Amino acid sequence: MDREEQRQRFIDIMAKFTVYTGRYLPDDVLSRLEELRETENSDLAKIIYDAMFENLKMAEELNRPCCQDTGVIQYFVQVGTKFPLIGEIEECLREAVQKATVIGPLRHNAVEVFDEKNTGNNVGTRIPWIDWEIIPDSDEVIIYVYMAGGGCSLPGAAKVLMPLEGYEGVVKFVFDQITSYGINACPPLLVGIGIAGSVEVAAKLSKKALLRPLGSHNNNPRGAELEKRIEKGLNDVKIGPGGLTGENSVMGVHIEQAARHPATIAVGLSTGCWAHRRSVIKISADMEYETISHKGAIL
Ligand code: SF4
Repeated sequence: MDREEQRQRFIDIMAKFTVYTGRYLPDDVLSRLEELRETENSDLAKIIYDAMFENLKMAEELNRPCCQDTGVIQYFVQVGTKFPLIGEIEECLREAVQKATVIGPLRHNAVEVFDEKNTGNNVGTRIPWIDWEIIPDSDEVIIYVYMAGGGCSLPGAAKVLMPLEGYEGVVKFVFDQITSYGINACPPLLVGIGIAGSVEVAAKLSKKALLRPLGSHNNNPRGAELEKRIEKGLNDVKIGPGGLTGENSVMGVHIEQAARHPATIAVGLSTGCWAHRRSVIKISADMEYETISHKGAIL
């Protein structure tokens, strides 16, 4: 494969995978929704879950996105220093998004700030958003796709807490946000929390927390315990599927952290909705792919 063929193959894979992400929920999210449906006792909550599964079935049958809001496209790229297209990934992903917008179809969700003009192809200033991590000595790339919908982005917030507010301040911040704005994000929610020393790091980590597989835990036992306790507390609020009350509010609570300044704790919050369109793909140097989030998917 020459360079141009590699480029075209990469664009094609990423365009199709982006479309696929909008149609099919990842394996872990599907199983969690099935588990949560079983925990519900009320007819109303069961009806909401049934509507979600019916919606997913129709998206598959009709080849349509499973939610009309296919979001602003975000890519979290872990690229090996020896991946052949390392210098061209951004340009290729911008092309992939334009292609995905047509074949998806994806809703036009990139509005230029100040001009207030929709670009009409989901590409705009710094959009698709690309977050980079460099992996030394690898010749592969792993790409997370996230569709940041309007509703599921709405409860997002970040703040540097006053000294002495401590971890209690983190918990209060999360509960205030979720109980005030959580229902806008089509529960059951995935709650991503970042804890760090400054606001932008906390915000970014809160989004990274949403990329972790459901069922995973914070790498520090105290962090894992805090995840469990916040999850239990939020479920006790009984927001329920669709915000219409029920046994559970969340699919999970994920915390990611960075070492902080001695005087400050910054907290960031991002939320994912029931239609948590987060996918992961690995592409090798010879442009073969493996869909990690959707086992066995053929693009
Ligand atoms: S919150 Fe999620 S399911 Fe609800 S409209 Fe937005 S993208 Fe769709």
